[in-house]
Amino acid sequence: MSQSLTDLPLVTVQKTEKKSQESYRVYIETFGCQMNEYDTELVRSLLKSRGFGFTDHGEQADVVLLNTCAIRENAHNRVYAHLADYKALRSQRGLVIGVLGCMAQNLKKDLFDSQSMIDVLVGPDAYRRLPDLLLQAIEARTRGLAVDLSEYETYEEILPVRGGGVNAWIAVMRGCDNFCTFCVVPYTRGRERSRNPQGILIEAQQLAEQGYKQITLLGQNVNSYRYQDWDFAKLLLSVAEVPGIERVRFTSPHPKDFPPALLDAVAEHPKVCNHIHLPAQSGNDRILQLMGRCYSRKEYLELVEAIRRRGDIALSTDIICGFCSETEEEYQDTIRLMQEVEFQSAFIFKYSERKNTIAGRKHPDDVPESIKSERVGRLIEWQRDVSARKNQALIGQSVKVLVEGDAKKSKNQWMGHTESNTTVVWNKADRLVKPGDLVSITVEDGSASTLYGSPTSS
Ligand code: SF4
Repeated sequence: MSQSLTDLPLVTVQKTEKKSQESYRVYIETFGCQMNEYDTELVRSLLKSRGFGFTDHGEQADVVLLNTCAIRENAHNRVYAHLADYKALRSQRGLVIGVLGCMAQNLKKDLFDSQSMIDVLVGPDAYRRLPDLLLQAIEARTRGLAVDLSEYETYEEILPVRGGGVNAWIAVMRGCDNFCTFCVVPYTRGRERSRNPQGILIEAQQLAEQGYKQITLLGQNVNSYRYQDWDFAKLLLSVAEVPGIERVRFTSPHPKDFPPALLDAVAEHPKVCNHIHLPAQSGNDRILQLMGRCYSRKEYLELVEAIRRRGDIALSTDIICGFCSETEEEYQDTIRLMQEVEFQSAFIFKYSERKNTIAGRKHPDDVPESIKSERVGRLIEWQRDVSARKNQALIGQSVKVLVEGDAKKSKNQWMGHTESNTTVVWNKADRLVKPGDLVSITVEDGSASTLYGSPTSS
């Protein structure tokens, strides 16, 4: 669907001088999860194949695209703030503004109507239409909207334009059928559909040839991957067998889809990292049921037990505090679950109601903000102590680290991650070391988030 500017609220736009397509420069900002980062790489590929160029500076661009997230309120607010930043450029020199991704899909016409400065609004299943809509917006000042969901779109043959480095993502499936009551993803990214494994393996081989060492398999519900007789465990093991790839990770899985074969793959294949992100969300059965998570506290803890029985596999999690009607006693169940499991790390958030979700329609968001914040604060503090303790317990041990690049704080230090996904920083001493190498580091100190050490002497 596209609309003429005359149908919409009046805005002042200077007439755009027509340039050759090659000279249209696009600046893309990405918000939210790794799937969105991957989608930005797909969008770059689609635009590049139609001759668009790119810039790293919004003020030099002809087109600014915001690839948005709808999971939390904070992400929405950041997008509105960025839109306001570009308002003057749009009226002064006809900058074209596009909003992509989950927020575009979830708020659709509301966003398009209320934010008259948005020229193009495109949801996650409609990126193939983006180049044409942008050209119409640049050359004919026509606003365009493409928010149809697809049961089939996996962007199968589109090779993402990646930024280089050691790590690459491959989306193996899109969408989600789980309908957790707090989550907007089933509405913004549609039904689950998995990619052909042959295409995924070819992409993994190409990445290895380009020098990438670590692949993270992505999906909203990655372990529900299924394509004919391929399940996720078979796919994971096949990617791990690609010559040149040293490590394989996956995110985000759902606790209900962990058959023994998948646990075996993580525990036994030397290139599948011994780390599982296992979103718990809550430790209380009534809240888990209200969230529509399809497992009880007991079932979750049994899965943790089954993982632990297979060996030294690090666990991380996601927790939501202050979900609709959560009492202090129910929150205490979450604390007790975290005490029982002792995760390596945890992402802990306040519940924020999302438009169009089941919880948004059926359950009042009735826990006061101050109580949500206080519950989040208590858990973060507790988790920080656990993470620090676990990291300090590694002092004196040697850990295998994939070298990724310079440390954030100093070019004189390297940064990489352990198999369990903990950041490691150490001084550059050996001139032969380079990004992509697997090195042994003896741990000398540890904070809640980082290990510090030096190369293990052989
Ligand atoms: S599994 Fe639940 S939380 Fe995860 S994307 Fe699907 S609906 Fe959202």
